[in-house]
Amino acid sequence: MTDNEKITAKLKVAEADQRDVGKGIVRVDDSFREKLGLKPFDVIEIKGGKSTSALIGRPYPSDSGLDIIRMDGLIRINAKTSIGEYVDIRKTDWKEAKSVTLAPVAKGMQIYAPSETLKAVFMNRTVSKGDFISTTSLRRSRERETFGKGIMFEDFFQDFFGPGMGQSFGLGEIKLQVISTSPSGIVKITDMTEVELLPEAAEITPEQNVPTVMYEDLGGVKDAITKIREMIELPLKHPELFDRLGIDAPKGVLLYGPPGTGKTMLAKAVANESDAYFISVNGPEIMSKYYGESEKGIRDVFEEAEKNAPAIIFLDEIDSIAPKRAEVTGEVERRVVAQLLSLMDGLKARKNVIVIGSTNRPEAIDMALRRPGRFDREIELRVPDTEGRLEIFQIHTRGMPLAENVNLMDFAQITYGFVGADITALCREAAMSSLRRILPKINLNEPEIPSEILDTLRVTREDFENALKD
Ligand code: ADP
Repeated sequence: MTDNEKITAKLKVAEADQRDVGKGIVRVDDSFREKLGLKPFDVIEIKGGKSTSALIGRPYPSDSGLDIIRMDGLIRINAKTSIGEYVDIRKTDWKEAKSVTLAPVAKGMQIYAPSETLKAVFMNRTVSKGDFISTTSLRRSRERETFGKGIMFEDFFQDFFGPGMGQSFGLGEIKLQVISTSPSGIVKITDMTEVELLPEAAEITPEQNVPTVMYEDLGGVKDAITKIREMIELPLKHPELFDRLGIDAPKGVLLYGPPGTGKTMLAKAVANESDAYFISVNGPEIMSKYYGESEKGIRDVFEEAEKNAPAIIFLDEIDSIAPKRAEVTGEVERRVVAQLLSLMDGLKARKNVIVIGSTNRPEAIDMALRRPGRFDREIELRVPDTEGRLEIFQIHTRGMPLAENVNLMDFAQITYGFVGADITALCREAAMSSLRRILPKINLNEPEIPSEILDTLRVTREDFENALKD
């Protein structure tokens, strides 16, 4: 350990800027860089509940004088920390990786990517066993050279060629987990590294902790994130605060707003960020069960949540479970509402279970559910404004090799009325349009697409314009 490596600093975790997401970079104020003897792109160890590594970037001028460290959701997971908590950082040594084995985080997702491609995507990144990393890292123009090599993953290709192709182009973001490294400890991926990708997700962490959605994956919803952190993250993580104040932590929060504005994503993100167990229940689905089965279904969900607390129960389309009594036609609804109410009343604040209900029609919900101690807090998700749309465009083009002529702000300005789901679909369609262009050059009988062809893959302005027409 060098002298510098013995000096540590305690900094408060803050969210990353969109531009940094997926890059393995953190930012701290200059005074701390000096104190710790850090130059840009030095490697630091970050110690929260766990320890991980990251590269140090140049500070943002607006953060000057603040004792914060900006990091994205994956680094927060890797360091087992979250926004607002303190971590210890210090300069650290690293070894060159001989080999790194990665696996997809999502079950059932098959990815095909040659070692050379992965190496190019993750070049100069430091990792340790268990870390999550994402392929968003190379999206700037100067980085495109390497990114052109492309990663392929299944669902895109299946959309295009139908099931069975088993691979697809990398036009989106893929999250991977580091399963092992040689040597162990903090290693850097270099030219010398052999990068291997396992075909399937590996169980090195329990499934509910797989960080599929983090706060940075949601655009244009800053206010909603602030509110949900206060209403859900805080009580789940620190129930003692509420005890101390002698007030009850919320049991139920209602998320409302038009379809496709990110209600489901937000619920998943808060579960991931609070390290809580997440169970999702689809309203119409549970209502379609046989006699007595719907109530039992709901009871089982509450039981599972209590067993795995801290937990979040997500009741999607709650208006179908608990419509206004006046609107209730069937006896099933009456029984299910009664069951839900009694389960919520029975939830002890101490049990650390929070129910999130989601609806497009808040006015259509049984008033009994809105009483104190039930769904007594609400958060609205609105149709995003231009700024919000821009953020969503940035998020959904993170992993795409964008052509120079694409200015996302232009598209954010002309997509008035689009919600998140519309923008996702638009970006996806633009990617498909770029794919169609290189399709004639591909021999579909070949298991691998030659990298010379992949290198030419670019999503252009015209691709977005085509997508808009559809
Ligand atoms: P809701 O639950 O409000 O109907 P979802 O959370 O299911 O909407 O969103 C559907 C999809 O639309 C998401 O998977 C995501 O790709 C995209 N999306 C929606 N809202 C946003 C947002 N605010 N930021 C980024 N993507 C979004």
